[in-house]
Amino acid sequence: MMCGECVQSFVTDPLKLWLSIGSLVFALLALAAFFGSKATKTKLGALYLHVFFLLFPVVLYGTYGGCAAMLDSCETARHTIWLAIITSGISILVSLLCAPFVFVRRMAQRSRRLENGSLARFVASAALDARITSPALHVIDTAKPIAFSFSLGTPRIFVSVGLMDLLSKKETEAVLLHEIGHIAQKSSMLALSRHAALISPVAWFGLERELDREERTADQYAARRQGSNKHIRKAKQHLNSYRLATIGRF
Ligand SMILES: [Zn+2]
Repeated sequence: MMCGECVQSFVTDPLKLWLSIGSLVFALLALAAFFGSKATKTKLGALYLHVFFLLFPVVLYGTYGGCAAMLDSCETARHTIWLAIITSGISILVSLLCAPFVFVRRMAQRSRRLENGSLARFVASAALDARITSPALHVIDTAKPIAFSFSLGTPRIFVSVGLMDLLSKKETEAVLLHEIGHIAQKSSMLALSRHAALISPVAWFGLERELDREERTADQYAARRQGSNKHIRKAKQHLNSYRLATIGRF
């Protein structure tokens, strides 16, 4: 039997055909939920469901027992290449999903955790006000002004020595509040999910728009806590002069 017949037997199998159509319908519903929801958590869940349902028919075909059993009679080489392509695609996706966690682990190992001092106390007190778990504050030993946060598991805020040298105390606090605003919104997870949205261009555009909105919300949070947008605005001006377009994104 030729491999083309495998495809034919797949689409003429009512169960697999309807599973595939159903999966694509769910992918569309998840996309609608992604655009319709306001909460970041719901948005994130909808995005992953969308990618999953989009991939599901592919995986279903890749693991289609009928075809696998026919490997001997199929055009083995062509069939194996197809299975390898599908498996590689899934592997790349899984690796991309894991990459941010590996990155944060490495950054945590390479940075110094601040447990005492005025900045650590400021973060603990601001986290209490925001009603979030107090984030671990890490200092990266580089002259580049950097700040970003990560909210899955133990929330973490990373700031660089360069950032603290460049900004005044109030401006550094504004940046820390901006990051706490992100952690409260869980927006770092949304930023880290950009690669997941690569598989669906429509979701990609929605995600970019959402990220811009969350940047503004984090700025507004910092301004509200400080009673003025002066410090966050000045902090951004200083960072822009270093050609850093955004704070807290990577
Ligand atoms: Zn930000």
